[in-house]
Amino acid sequence: MAEWKDFASYGTDALADVLQGVAGLYGDDNAVRRFSFDLEPAEARWVLRRSGSDVDIAIYRFPDLLTSVDAPDRAGTLSWASTQPLGLLGHVVLEAADAVIRLHGKDGYRAKWVEHPFPVAALRELRRLHVRYDGCERRHGGAST
Ligand SMILES: [Zn+2]
Repeated sequence: MAEWKDFASYGTDALADVLQGVAGLYGDDNAVRRFSFDLEPAEARWVLRRSGSDVDIAIYRFPDLLTSVDAPDRAGTLSWASTQPLGLLGHVVLEAADAVIRLHGKDGYRAKWVEHPFPVAALRELRRLHVRYDGCERRHGGAST
């Protein structure tokens, strides 16, 4: 899942979008969630499609976010696709978010991403769902947030 390392370079509230997107997959076997990263000017659109206990992940690229916002997925270029168990996806995303806050702290994160505070509530919600539905016994940095 090499794409995750690109997080910090985007101007949108990318981390919150990812956390909320993945959280939205729990509790619905047919859930579909989309969120986009602004690559200035390109759009990278993530499409997460729940399929039983798995999630089909696809990343579509569009040359210009301003014109592609309403475009269907198929109008973009498929640049990455993978199928992962939901439990693993939730786990990896939580670990990534925890790593960000360990590295920068909430104040450092805010300073770096002026417009967006660290998405504490979104992180807490995903952690709750992941522990409840996936039965994960790792702590996921619960003490720090
Ligand atoms: Zn876990």
